[in-house]
Amino acid sequence: MAEILIVEDEFSINELIRKNLSLTGHHCTQAFDGENAAAMLESRKFDLLVLDIMLPGLDGYQVFERASGTPTIFLTAKSELSDKLKGLAMGADDYLTKPFQMLELAARVEAVLRRTKKGETEFEMGDLKVDFGRHQAFLKGTAVECTPKEYELLEVLVRNRNIALSREKLLDMVWGYDFDGGTRTVDVHIQRLRQKLHLENDIRTVYKLGYRLEVRE
Ligand code: CA
Repeated sequence: MAEILIVEDEFSINELIRKNLSLTGHHCTQAFDGENAAAMLESRKFDLLVLDIMLPGLDGYQVFERASGTPTIFLTAKSELSDKLKGLAMGADDYLTKPFQMLELAARVEAVLRRTKKGETEFEMGDLKVDFGRHQAFLKGTAVECTPKEYELLEVLVRNRNIALSREKLLDMVWGYDFDGGTRTVDVHIQRLRQKLHLENDIRTVYKLGYRLEVRE
């Protein structure tokens, strides 16, 4: 569960975001203008900011400058490409173009939280060690060469260990909703991870669904 601040002046959109992110288990706080948002950011800490750019009072950029490094997803209007670029250049973690699907927002939120989450910094199981900070897997202390997608897939499996994940879910989490390739991509990457990291017995195939990393803790 993460503490999320939603800053959006359009009440219905703010409410829709709150409902959806609450459903996925997060605790949401709402602000409807920039000044209020800045005051909230000063008084407490949030794990993530969902931040509209066009706001009354302070705009999204001005709020972002006061967010002192809080991970942020900007919401931008469809036509304003310069807004996306500006937001990312300022150090935002991601942006979404309105109108967007709530499923997509939820996926982006999870991706940013996964990247930024404090707490677990490494994972060990037998000869395998995964260093989340360095994005690196080790076998018996030796770094194992993985492509970025192989590593991301491994991290998703590790962070969701002992949970069966469908191929579609893995595809969304690792490759994102924009990816056109099929679920076969997931199978190919799973095979490579199993071989490279000697996880043949640990990454289980879940019949007609997907995969699960089995960890005895
Ligand atoms: Ca707005």
